[in-house]
Formats: sequence, C-alpha cells, structure tokens
Amino acid sequence: MAIRLLDDATAARIAAGEVIERPASVVKELVENALDAGATRIDIEIAGGGSELIRVVDNGAGIAPGELELAFERFATSKVDETSDLLGIATLGFRGEALPSIASVSRVEASSRPADEDAGERLLLEFGEREEFGKTGVPAGTSVTVRGLFSNVPARRKFLRSPGAELGRIQSLVTSYALVRSDVAFRLGADGRQRLVTPGGGDLRGAVAGTYGARIAEAMLELPERELFPDGEAITFAVGGLTGAPSTSRGNRRFITLGINGRWIQSKRITYAIEQAYHGFLGARRFPIAVVLARMPLNDVDVNVHPAKTEVRFLREDLVFGGVQRAVRSVLISNAPVPSFRPTSPSHTFAGVGGTGSVGRSIVNAPRTDLEQNPLWPSRNETVSPGGFGTGTDSGREVGSTEIPVRLPGGDHGQTQRETLPVLRLIGQAQETYLIAEGPDGVYLIDQHASHERIRFEEITRALNTGAPDAQQMLEPEPVALEPRQEELLADQGDLIAGLGFVVESFGPGTALIRGIPRMLADRTSTAGDAFRGLLDEVASGGRNDAWRERLIATLACHSSVRAGMQLTDDEGRALLRSLEKADQPHTCPHGRPTMIHMSQVDLERGFGRR
Ligand code: ADP
Ligand code: MG
Repeated sequence: MAIRLLDDATAARIAAGEVIERPASVVKELVENALDAGATRIDIEIAGGGSELIRVVDNGAGIAPGELELAFERFATSKVDETSDLLGIATLGFRGEALPSIASVSRVEASSRPADEDAGERLLLEFGEREEFGKTGVPAGTSVTVRGLFSNVPARRKFLRSPGAELGRIQSLVTSYALVRSDVAFRLGADGRQRLVTPGGGDLRGAVAGTYGARIAEAMLELPERELFPDGEAITFAVGGLTGAPSTSRGNRRFITLGINGRWIQSKRITYAIEQAYHGFLGARRFPIAVVLARMPLNDVDVNVHPAKTEVRFLREDLVFGGVQRAVRSVLISNAPVPSFRPTSPSHTFAGVGGTGSVGRSIVNAPRTDLEQNPLWPSRNETVSPGGFGTGTDSGREVGSTEIPVRLPGGDHGQTQRETLPVLRLIGQAQETYLIAEGPDGVYLIDQHASHERIRFEEITRALNTGAPDAQQMLEPEPVALEPRQEELLADQGDLIAGLGFVVESFGPGTALIRGIPRMLADRTSTAGDAFRGLLDEVASGGRNDAWRERLIATLACHSSVRAGMQLTDDEGRALLRSLEKADQPHTCPHGRPTMIHMSQVDLERGFGRR
C-alpha cells in the first residue's frame, strides 16, 4: 500500500482506541468535562453496562452557541492554547480528543446551554457524522448521551465483560470522583436503580455515606488539614481527608482513594504509604478505607503521563510519601478506636467451641485449634455485613466487604473513641497460654504473649523516644559473626540499634562484640547473638520509610515477651494485667491481632439462655 494521510474518520477511530477502551472510559471523559465546566451537580445514567446507554448531565458553564459542533472536532479544546504551560494544567482535560473519540464509535446526542443564553443547541452524530443539528430549549448546562458504544467496532465490543462487570467499573470510577470532589453532588443510576448519591457542598463524610454507606462514614476519622513546608522552600503541601477506623478494614486496596488538587489520581507509592501507616492496626492482608486529599503546587505533579491513565508523577515523591504517612499515622494513634470484640448473635457465640453451649468448660478444655476457630476470633472469622448498597458482580469495592463487630463503651456503636481497659481480677491461667480474668462487665480471656508484646512494644517506643535505653552489661561480651551486608547495616543504623539498648563494638572484619543488651531481653533470650542477628535481619528486610523502625520494635517486643506455653505464677499474671490496663492500645498486639476476647455479662447470660 502506498503511504497516504488517513481520513479524519479513520484517524479518529484509531485515536479512540487510545482514550476510549470501555464504557467506564466514556464516563470518565464526560464526568471530567462536566467538572472542568464547573458543575456542582452531575447526574449519570447507565443502561446495559454502558454499551446500551451512557448519559451524563451537568449544570456547568455550558457550550457557547455555535461551538457545539466544534467541540466534537479533533483537537478542539477551550482549555489550553499556545501560551499554556503544559506542566501546570489545572483542568482535567486539555487534549480535545475525548468527544470526537467517543463520537467516532457510537451514536451521540449532545445538548448544551450556557446559563445566560435563552436557547441551547442540540447535535446528533452517528459514528462521527452529523445527523441533526438545531436550536432547542434545554436546562442550563450540558447533556451528553452515548448509545450503542462500539457498535461499529465489533472487535472492541468483544473485549467488553458482562454488563454487571462493566457497571462495576463505572461505579468504582464515579465513587472515586465523588469522594475526591465532595463539593459536587453526584448521582449514578443504572437500569432504573439508584447506585450512588452524594450531597455535594464539600460534605466529605456525606460523600462517603453516599458511596460506602452510613455506617462506614460514621466510623471515619478526620485527617486534620495539615500544612507542610519542606525545608527552605516556600511551597505549600497540605494533607487532609478521612481515614477509616481500623475496625472497618477491607480485603483489598480498592477502598483507598487519593486526590491531589481536586484531581482523582492513582499512585502505588502513596497507597503504600497509607497502608504502612496502618501497620500494627490491621491484621495481615487487611487494607484500610481512606480518602486522602492533598494540595500542592500544580507543577509539583505531572499528570500528563498518559491520556487515559490516572497514574501521576511527583516532583518530590518522598515529601508526599512521608507527609501522607505521618498524617494518617498520627490520627490513628491519637484516636483510633480500640475494639472490644463480641459475637454478633448468641447462636454464633459458642458454636465454634464444640457446640456444647458450655462456656466455662470450652474455654478451659478446648484444644487450641478449636479456640482459634471460634467465631469470637475476629481476624479469622469475620461477620459479613452488607455494604452500603448491593452492586454488580465485580465492582470490587463492595463485593466481599466485611466488618468486624465493634462495641464501644455506652453502646455507642460506630463512634470512635479511645477505650481503656477496666481493672481486671485474675482468675487463673488456661493452657499455659491464656489468662482468665474478670472485670466489671464480664469475663476476659487474655492471650499472654500477644498482650505482653503490646506492653513491651509501648515500653520500647517510649524508651526510644526519650533516648534512654535500658541496657544491661553482659558479664561475658559475646562475639557475633556478621556478613558484609549485616556489617554495613550496623554501620548505617548504629544509632538506632544503640537506642534500643544494644552496646556493640566492632571487633575486626566480619565480627562484632556485644557488650550489652536491652534489659528486657536479659532473661528471655538464650543468646544475645541470636536476638542481635534477628534484629539485623529485620532491618535488612525494611524499605526506606519509617515502617521498618516499627517492625524492629515489634521484633524486639516479640523476643522479649512471655511465650505461649509458659506457665505464669499468679503474681506474674497479675503484673501482666496491671501493665495491660495501663497500655495505650491494650486490645491489639503490634501485629494487629487481638490481645483478648471479652464476654460481657449480657453475652454470658445469652449464651446460657438466661435472657
Ligand atoms: P478537552 O476536555 O480535552 O478540552 P473534549 O473533547 O473532552 O476535550 O471537549 C472539547 C471541548 O468541549 C472542551 O474543551 C470544552 O470546551 C467543551 N465541553 C465538553 N464537554 C463540556 C461540558 N460538559 N460543559 C461545557 N463544555 C464542555
Ligand atoms: Mg475532556
């Protein structure tokens, strides 16, 4: 074939492949246009997963008379001109490609009227060709309806998934915009059913309620808007938003939503920063719900990486990473609710313990594995609760969401406040692993290792913060052989290791001499060398951020704690309870596992059929 220029329709269809991949891409482009037009209300209607119909109606600025047809020309945009700085773009779109791309693969009906015009215009296009055009009476704003998407590109249609799955993607997308732009009221309906409604007006909690449900919204913790000023520079970097109480975690990352300067973005690094902030608050493979919104200078973020992707690049990634992580972490630490666990229904309560209905016997005699299968154990057996609304097959956000039942003092369900432990009276020890205690409201089973870990963790953190390590001199200094990598780490992290209470000296190449160890390790570890090497391993497996420091503390806490299978004297048991009562977060160990199971008076009475 000879070389020739493509005709417009073919060029547009090829370009459409880049921007418009599936129904959700159409929704993304139309919603972004509405936001760029300053809309405060955006209404989205979907039929047949978007293949049949997508309609986006906004109350924004509208398109001036005589420009509606132009808007559907390639590279027609009102958002940039020759003088624009492409790195500092504040609008979501600017390429002028979306409308022509959509029009080339569907039948489009568009109408628009700026508020100060008497009449609007209406345009009908079929696969990019004009079918009808005229003046019309329409409400102020813009309405774009897309029918029969990809009906002229069967190859692309084949790649679409089921209508339910495509709708799931659309809902997930609209959820992200609704959360990041809580100043705008969103509504999403599909096949005659309402899927999502948010109030607008900047009500972020209301937006969470409208997308994830009222219960989750209530339990979200506020990230107070904090301004950060990187050294020596007059730039503003602020973080705010809402982050989920640890009790409302999820099984995947899709409930973490990020916004930068009012733009929904995706960033693996920042998502990871948020996950790391929850370290110690959530169990393994649990992820938080969060809406983290940041502001920074426009030319600090490069949003121009790919036309259809939301992944961005940051000029100062470490600043953003650290700022987000600290903001989330400090909120969690200052007011995370510490849940007290309870069964959701009496029939559930003791079913896992052999179904005998006899609490006392089960607790004391049940083999360990039975106890771990007990539905009281939240990290393994969660009560599935319906999300805010049902969804299609795999939107991902709603399917499989679970919630740990949480009870707070005064029956204030869902509210977040700190819960300290009441004074507990030791009754005894079971299976050389659990302490049994009685409090003002019922009976507590306490995991001796997990709770000692928590106590140690807080002790070590305090010691590190005050810079007063409690080291114990060894009678005999102990030499440890080190690999080159470990030697390097020791040189790098010497201060931190000394801060923990290790007194280490270099002893020629490949060897270090341990002269002192943290006092709390003194009577727990067989050899100081083992603990020390374990520590270096832990440092070695860490990344660049703060999280490994915490893992380090957790490791040391673990090494220095009583184990399961150790018999405790009554005095030791009581001392453990006293320390636990004083802990800041008595209900979870540093790894996020519960330290105790509480059976309230009411639970007991129900279990025994007394009420
Ligand atoms: P871009 O958004 O990159 O400019 P589009 O093809 O999406 O390109 O839109 C072309 C132009 O049409 C926009 O620049 C804008 O002027 C106008 N437009 C599109 N949608 C709307 C809308 N909902 N309200 C007002 N103007 C709109
Ligand atoms: Mg656009």
